[in-house]
Amino acid sequence: MPELPEVETTRRGLLPHVAGRTIAAVTLRRADLRWPIPPELPQWLAGQRVEDVRRRAKYLLLDTAPGSALLHLGMSGSLRVLPADTPLRAHDHVDIGLDDGRVLRFNDPRRFGCLLWQPAGDVHPLLAGLGPEPLSDAFDGGHLYRLSRGRKAPVKAFLMDQAVVVGVGNIYAAEALFMAGVSPLRAAGKVSRDRYVLLADAVKAVLGHAIERGGTTLRDFISPDGAPGYFEQELNAYGRGGAPCRRCGRALRQALIGQRASVWCPACQR
Ligand SMILES: [Zn+2]
Repeated sequence: MPELPEVETTRRGLLPHVAGRTIAAVTLRRADLRWPIPPELPQWLAGQRVEDVRRRAKYLLLDTAPGSALLHLGMSGSLRVLPADTPLRAHDHVDIGLDDGRVLRFNDPRRFGCLLWQPAGDVHPLLAGLGPEPLSDAFDGGHLYRLSRGRKAPVKAFLMDQAVVVGVGNIYAAEALFMAGVSPLRAAGKVSRDRYVLLADAVKAVLGHAIERGGTTLRDFISPDGAPGYFEQELNAYGRGGAPCRRCGRALRQALIGQRASVWCPACQR
């Protein structure tokens, strides 16, 4: 599933190809993905200039004067910028045609993605109530400390709550908790301010590193043959249950926390 770094990498890959272009036409090959695509969307977008390509949580927004096309890649979606005459492949559901003879093509085999509309000046309900971006200044140890007081939920579930901070998925939560030395099982309300400072810094480091790595796979997002490039990185915790901790050598423990597989070091993380 694309996580925040993959979505941010997609945004950076699209930006130079899409921003500043005028949308010639939009072709919908189905009426719905996860949710119905507004049938008026092609007429709303046609003739509009794309002012920016933004990301909020794991949503991408193509901003135009009347509003923004709101895209989510779901479990399996990908976006590519291609010459308009590139033959269709299975699951190519939407083409956003650009004025330079290319199309922004949305492929989504499992159709958990979406294409929706946010009128200018509005906030789409899917974006309302979201916590701050993890790489923004609004997200720091103090933010986590304040929101967590009195909370009994495990800190890992707290960190993955989109109302607390957006885009910290299972992999990155596990890695950040390992880096900060915080046990994923600890009640969120029992983590000190100092340790939340370490944890917020770890979240920024882990996500920032993944986005940096993504820079090397940018071409995959725009080449006709390129499959979306999800990052394989050196993981310290996620997926390593039972393997030796890279820091102390003890066997990593594994359990479900909030229905999600969680791995941590019982010695290094407290
Ligand atoms: Zn350890």
